[in-house]
Amino acid sequence: MKITILGSGHGVPEAHKQCTSILFEVSGSYYFVDAGCDISMELANRRIHPNGVKAIFITHPHSDHINGLYSFLNLLGWYYTKSNPEVYVPNEKCAVLVHQYLEAFGCKLRPEQKLALVEEGTIFDDGNFKVTAFATQHCPNSHAFLIEAEGKRVLCSGDLRHPAVDFPPVDNLDAAILEAAHFNVIEYTDVLKSKSVKSVYINHYGNYIGNINGANFVTLRKEISPVPAEITTDGMEISM
Ligand SMILES: [Zn+2]
Ligand SMILES: [Zn+2]
Repeated sequence: MKITILGSGHGVPEAHKQCTSILFEVSGSYYFVDAGCDISMELANRRIHPNGVKAIFITHPHSDHINGLYSFLNLLGWYYTKSNPEVYVPNEKCAVLVHQYLEAFGCKLRPEQKLALVEEGTIFDDGNFKVTAFATQHCPNSHAFLIEAEGKRVLCSGDLRHPAVDFPPVDNLDAAILEAAHFNVIEYTDVLKSKSVKSVYINHYGNYIGNINGANFVTLRKEISPVPAEITTDGMEISM
């Protein structure tokens, strides 16, 4: 599986740092966790045809995680009409907005385009890529996702209230992609030490705003050593 961090930022775009989106490639199929940036453009830049996108999962109803979804679905509505990814949105309001947005631009979802709400538990499994959602306390209808594919297990934390409060009850992770916009990264130390995690990626942070700085990250890295920890950047690729 190849994971590409399309947007490593949080709610406020910064230079060369877009809002959150993570692209997974598994056996020639593509899956998004969050679509906070212009995912249509990101696919175009990578010469990935939208027909290859099988599903999109949105962690929660904040704009930095969903803004790019609407324009992407609009593009599928009038141009890439053979592209039918399954779309999982956080709540009914987001689902209604999808329909209203498309209608405003003269198109609508095709019957083959499944639009569903994220609920706790396994929400998707096409035999290639499995997604299990865990409720978090960041906001109403917020979730973390456990991704399972090719025998690997990857956690996408979404946004959390605090690692001690709503870190998902998962273990034996090949990678944990963790947000760092709402608390000091050092506060991941205890939960990461209590689990088997092979690699850690600190994501969804601001260079100038938020709770990450070099000293905090170095401390976390030292605390969880020998588990490797990296800070994500836009365009970063992770192969496993
Ligand atoms: Zn966010
Ligand atoms: Zn949020």
